[in-house]
Amino acid sequence: MTSKALPTLPILVENAATATFDCVYPTCGGSCCKQGRPPLEPGEVRRIEENLAKFLPHVREKARKRIESEGFMTRRKKHGLSMMAVSEGWCVFENQGCVLHKVGAKEGDRFKYKPWACAVFPLDRRDDDSWYVRQWKLHGEAWDLFCLNPKESKKPAVSTMQGELEFAARLDSGAEGWRGGSVPKPRKKKAAKAARKPAKKRASRK
Ligand code: SF4
Repeated sequence: MTSKALPTLPILVENAATATFDCVYPTCGGSCCKQGRPPLEPGEVRRIEENLAKFLPHVREKARKRIESEGFMTRRKKHGLSMMAVSEGWCVFENQGCVLHKVGAKEGDRFKYKPWACAVFPLDRRDDDSWYVRQWKLHGEAWDLFCLNPKESKKPAVSTMQGELEFAARLDSGAEGWRGGSVPKPRKKKAAKAARKPAKKRASRK
């Protein structure tokens, strides 16, 4: 990794000094949305439902049929939350990029319809409220996405994901509370201290 000074971050990231990451979409084909079944907060489900008519013209044909007949959610649960549906091996909202992202971006906020679990990727949060950049095998990371391989890029992750870091800070501030119960609460001093210590493993959100 380069020895350049790291930027000032809006949140505390446990492995900011060592993690590497560089999103190469669309070269990768959007592989983080393949079999993508993010868990959704109740507020996120409501917002997508209320705006579904905006998204349907942009989703794949089979995904649209799936959504119209059975909805965009499944009965499967992760962290106690229902998960998004998959069609033809891809998240129902994937169509050469995330439809929720693209419609939100057109309206001036790329994250307004997107599940927070997707919006913060490749950040994740541990049970002690500390943030970290997902990397192969770190904290039990089981996802073998090539972009989570620390050897894949020499760029410090925190220098390539300013939008995601700012969004995570918004979560921390409570400004995204409309999403629902599992959205991170404003950080406590205790949590900030714990973030510097090794913490227990947790399954990834996405
Ligand atoms: S909601 Fe969007 S970013 Fe998340 S898995 Fe689906 S297509 Fe990908």
